[in-house]
Amino acid sequence: MSDSTDQPTPTTLPEPFPTDWTRCLVLVAHPDDTEYGMSAAIARWTAEGRSVVYVLASSGEAGIEGMAPSIAGPIREEEQRRSAAHVGVHTVEFLGFPDSRIVNNGDLRDAIADSIRKHRPDVVVSLYSGAEFAPGFPNQSDHIEFGAAVGAAYDDVVAAAGVDSREGRPQMWFESDPQPSHYVDVKGFIEPAVDALAEHREYMSVLDPQTPVRDQARAQVERMVAPVEGLADGDPVVGFTRKRP
Ligand SMILES: [Zn+2]
Repeated sequence: MSDSTDQPTPTTLPEPFPTDWTRCLVLVAHPDDTEYGMSAAIARWTAEGRSVVYVLASSGEAGIEGMAPSIAGPIREEEQRRSAAHVGVHTVEFLGFPDSRIVNNGDLRDAIADSIRKHRPDVVVSLYSGAEFAPGFPNQSDHIEFGAAVGAAYDDVVAAAGVDSREGRPQMWFESDPQPSHYVDVKGFIEPAVDALAEHREYMSVLDPQTPVRDQARAQVERMVAPVEGLADGDPVVGFTRKRP
């Protein structure tokens, strides 16, 4: 594997995700952020005996239209816990930052850094924080702000530990990304990912009342892990971009 920090060019095929690690901390802004593709990779990792923990900035309490945040928050936390269990994740923590009003401030960076110190991951994985997923498909402000906070917190923790120190955890930081530098072959792990997304029942049934939740989930996951020509023998893949080191 490469230690290159170069940004991938569109003509560069992604390389396999590193395997020399055991502990992963997944940091995302909202319930269900892990479920649009990433969870298939997480299912593979936990099946391989790696440990994965989820820490979420918010409880997604603003995410169900027509439902009071005080009711929606606990529902979405419970949906996220059930979802995580399908892909072998049994530790799910919520930091309590306000859904749809997440800002990259000192409180958020401190909370993220505390999570990194507490869980001592080898790998931090977070959601894509670029401006748009594709031309005309802008990313959400929460994701952009949160991703910037993850990067700053990562740098703080690594700097405090000393770059060459064994305790300089985490060793790597990746974002789940539409233009990935790395990929995970997720053949055989589509079903747990569909199960995981389908647990966001309340959220998805409000979003699209016409389509059964499980059908929505399958379509979304299959779209997100679609095979890439020339990669992984045509198996479904999940893409990640290495941000550090
Ligand atoms: Zn989100």
